Formats: sequence, C-alpha cells, structure tokens
Amino acid sequence: MSIRFDGQVAIVTGAGNGLGRSHALALAARGAKVVVNDLGGARDGAGASSEAAKAVVAEIVASGGEAIAHGANVAVMSEVEDMVKQAVDAWGRVDILVNNAGILRDKSFTKMSLDDFKLVMDVHLMGSVNCTKAVWDLMKEQQYGRIVMTTSSSGMYGNFGQANYGAAKMAVVGLMNTLGLEGAKYNVRVNSLAPTAATRMTEDLMPEEILAMLVPEAVTAGALLLCHDGAPSRHILCAGGGGYASSRIFETEGVYLDPSQQTPEAVAEHWDEICNTDRQAPLENGAKQSEKFLLKAQAFLQQN
Ligand code: NAD
Repeated sequence: MSIRFDGQVAIVTGAGNGLGRSHALALAARGAKVVVNDLGGARDGAGASSEAAKAVVAEIVASGGEAIAHGANVAVMSEVEDMVKQAVDAWGRVDILVNNAGILRDKSFTKMSLDDFKLVMDVHLMGSVNCTKAVWDLMKEQQYGRIVMTTSSSGMYGNFGQANYGAAKMAVVGLMNTLGLEGAKYNVRVNSLAPTAATRMTEDLMPEEILAMLVPEAVTAGALLLCHDGAPSRHILCAGGGGYASSRIFETEGVYLDPSQQTPEAVAEHWDEICNTDRQAPLENGAKQSEKFLLKAQAFLQQN
C-alpha cells in the first residue's frame, strides 16, 4: 500500500517546529497541499512570530510542494476560522486536520496557578475543539475527513508536574471518542496520536543519546497513516523511536451486586472481582456500559 495525499488539503497546527513541522513536510512530500499553522511563541506559549511557519512553507515550496503559512492562535476561534477560510479560498476543501499545536506549563499541582491550568487547556483542548469545529461541517458535506488529535502518555497514564497538560491531553481523547461516532456516517474519521520525540518540548528531559533515537519522522510515519484514506477511527496510536503501539480503554466484566449488597462494604469485599481483568473489553460507546449492568440486573430479577 502506498500512502499518498495527491489532491488533498491538510491543515497542521503547530507546524513551525518539532512534530508538526515533520508531519507537514511529510504530507507535502506525499502530495498534500498544506496549511502550516504556527503561532510561533515559546515552549510555554509566551510571544508570537510568523518566522517558524514561513520557514517550513519555504522548505515545502523549495521541494516542489504547495503550502501556505498561517499564524492563527488555535485557542482563538476567529483566527482559526480565518485560517480555514484561507485554505478553502486557496484550494477549495480541507481533507485532513492534524491538531498538533501545544505548550507546556509544568509545575506540581500545589504550585500550579489556575491561569497556567486554563492556558494549557485552552491551547490543547480548546485549540483542538476550535480547529475541528471550523472544518467539521465542511468535512461532513464533502463526505470525507481525517482528523488527528495529539494526546500524550502524560494524559493516558499521568506524569508528575503535568496536571494541566495531562487533563488536556486526555480530554482530546474524549473528544475523539464522540466525534468518531458522530463523523462515522460522513466518512469523517477521528484518531489520536500519542508521540514521543526529541523536540524543544522534550529537549531538557532526556540525555542526548536517547534524544538522538527519538526522531520526529518516526512519529510522523504513524501520523500519516491516521491522515490517510485507509485510516481506522477512534484509535490511539502511540509512536516513538520506531516503536508503535495501540492504547485503548478497557472495562472489566465487573460484578452484579443485588439490592441487599449495594453497600460500600460489599463493594470493598468484591474489589478483586471488580478489578479482575480476565474478561475485560473495550466498549463501543457509553450506552454499552449501562446495557451491561442492566442485563446483569435483569438476569438477577429473572432468577429471583
Ligand atoms: P514543539 O514545541 O516543538 O511544537 C509545538 C508547536 O506548537 C510550536 O511550534 C508552537 O509555536 C506551536 N503552538 C503553541 N501554541 C500554539 C497556539 N496557541 N496556536 C498555534 N500554534 C501553537 O513541541 P512538539 O514536541 O513538536 O509537540 C507537538 C505536539 O505533540 C504537542 O501537542 C505536544 O503536546 C505533543 N506531544 C509531544 C511529545 C514529545 O515527546 N515531543 C510527547 C507527547 C505529546
């Protein structure tokens, strides 16, 4: 299978540096016309500059590709709408959106200000919401769309000092879960990428020899599959240093406790059974959980 994007239009947010830059270059190299979005601030979100996005556009154009730079702050809907309008004015459609822009404001929760919490939520969660909202109806109407959220192991599994970032990164998985359902009949597929790569976001976190192995291009290989016609939907692809894995939320089979046992003491007594992973399974949607519990309750009522 050859993964190509000829004739398609992609928006990659935060594409002036790191992973976004790598995604944008690879999409363009495989035929996509690319909006290279970047606000151009520092790692903590301070400041702004159009230089980084323009440099990536220049690289794409020098290699014979087509790209435009846009400096929208993804947290500001009017700027995002202007970016999507420019893409549509230039190329008539948007097939691919990679929600990649991000910042860090790490601190232990005790020391973290609510402003730092909200800013990180604004960029990662609301940035992804804004960009997705701005292309959603367009993708539904054209019966085609591929959307990638960028999540993180810090959200899925936790990381000291990243309460804001972890909350935002898990929130985009929740967004994916529902939008994947709502987009399915319009051929709009929504997935998440959980990367590990050497970028300015991670440059001071690991030794140089490790960083050398974590090239962004290895993550981009996975990202491009999620951007492709043949993408799955509602999957979390973890990618870093050449490793690729899928992360998923599973639920244990659990237990049914009859009305006489619906007490905290009985829940404690059954804890091992509740947590037993032998028959754990992912659930298709939220209603499946109620269905599972109600079936157990009905079976009890029928027997008694
Ligand atoms: P990076 O700092 O190199 O790139 C992030 C880019 O986003 C920057 O160019 C920045 O200017 C841009 N940006 C920030 N705020 C913006 C805003 N409001 N509007 C538009 N652009 C904005 O970092 P990276 O490592 O390439 O991170 C890319 C994505 O991957 C982020 O969402 C990050 O949280 C996620 N991620 C990275 C890693 C990793 O190992 N590098 C791990 C997990 C998740």
